[in-house]
Parts: sequence; structure tokens; C-alpha cells
Amino acid sequence: MMGGQGDGGTGGREERSIPIRFEKCPVCGQYGFSDTHHCPPYWEVAVADDPEDVHRIYAIDAGIAAEIFVGLWDDEGVIAVGGGQIDVIVTGSDGSITKYTVDGTMVPRYDAYETVPSGEG
Ligand SMILES: [Zn+2]
Repeated sequence: MMGGQGDGGTGGREERSIPIRFEKCPVCGQYGFSDTHHCPPYWEVAVADDPEDVHRIYAIDAGIAAEIFVGLWDDEGVIAVGGGQIDVIVTGSDGSITKYTVDGTMVPRYDAYETVPSGEG
């Protein structure tokens, strides 16, 4: 609409008012605008030693699906804290199978809290 001239501006065109929300997708669990969100592809991921216990992970590629899966699976920190690694099998929706070895690393995290001055008032 930049630079437009001569269309009169207010001529009778009605726009539908569908409320656009920023929300969590009930399918993939990611956040996005309700009018433009498209779920990323899904992958079926399992620990190589337990291939029957398959979990669906939404991610932009198989390697990221492997990383997300291990991040969820490693809830006791065996991989991230203990410096271990684990082999996983990632199956794409097209049937392609890729094996990954995933390790983890502890990363420093900083949290900011607003400082409220004491002794005022
Ligand atoms: Zn989605």
C-alpha cells in the first residue's frame, strides 16, 4: 500500500474481521499467529535400544527432531549432566530412516529480575 495514489482510500471495500490470535497450536505445540501458522513436518523418533517406544516430534528436519526428542527423554539429565550420549532412530513421514548419536551439554542461563528499590516511601 505504500506509495499508492488516486484510489480514493475509502471506497466501499469491506474487510472481513477474523480475529488473529497468537496462540499455541493444538497439533504441534508451537506458537504462531492463527492465520499464518503451518505445522512443521513430523518425525517418529525412538531410542535405538527401544525401537518400539516411538514418539512423534514436530521439527524442521530429522536432526532437530532427534535433539528435541532427547531433550524430552533425558528428564533426569543423564545425557546433559553426565556427559553421555544416546543413539536414536528418526523415521520421516516418507518412511526415510536416519540414525543419530545425540549428546548434550550444560549451558549457562541468566535470568533477569526487576530490582525494586528498598526503603522508599
Ligand atoms: Zn502447528
